[in-house]
Amino acid sequence: MNKELLLKNLRNIPDFPIPGIQFKDVTSLFKNPECLREMDNALYEMYKEKGITKIVGIESRGFVMASSLAVKLNAGFVPIRKPGKLPAETISETYGKEYGRDTIEIHKDAIDENDVVLIHDDLLATGGTMLAAYHLVKKLNPKRVMINFIIELEGLKGRETFPADAEIECLLTLEGK
Ligand code: AMP
Repeated sequence: MNKELLLKNLRNIPDFPIPGIQFKDVTSLFKNPECLREMDNALYEMYKEKGITKIVGIESRGFVMASSLAVKLNAGFVPIRKPGKLPAETISETYGKEYGRDTIEIHKDAIDENDVVLIHDDLLATGGTMLAAYHLVKKLNPKRVMINFIIELEGLKGRETFPADAEIECLLTLEGK
């Protein structure tokens, strides 16, 4: 994968949404056709031989690569969304954030015990959102669950919040917070 191309095109926005946060704007990668293709191909190479049957994308930046990869892998796409957005029966998970709490939901019938699942989101920061998603998917008893991010902010040590056997891969690892 051409990491230089991605790093060159990844926009950093200082102090967004609050002072002190260095916001990595993945939309600057999504809007560039070369970057989009690079990420799409890299994800396909990473996961083409894992027998994945469902790709779970986390609202909303996680939807972009997750749905494209699902088509390439001949897998289904499943959304994890904020409360009240999914129309059928859901299960939910509430988790702590830097400020306050948040809840995410998945359709109860989206995954079953025959599925091999990849959960995808844009960025691993503290890991709170993905850990909640991981718990949600695990409740539906799939055969195997893998986790993927485009970017990992290594300095925030989000990886350490997951169980030691969690299978986590990232396209880009950035040293800072
Ligand atoms: P977290 O639960 O802390 O891992 O972060 C949840 C989500 O917030 C990530 O998947 C990103 O979409 C977004 N996010 C958090 N920190 C950043 C950052 N520094 N730059 C860009 N997005 C971020």
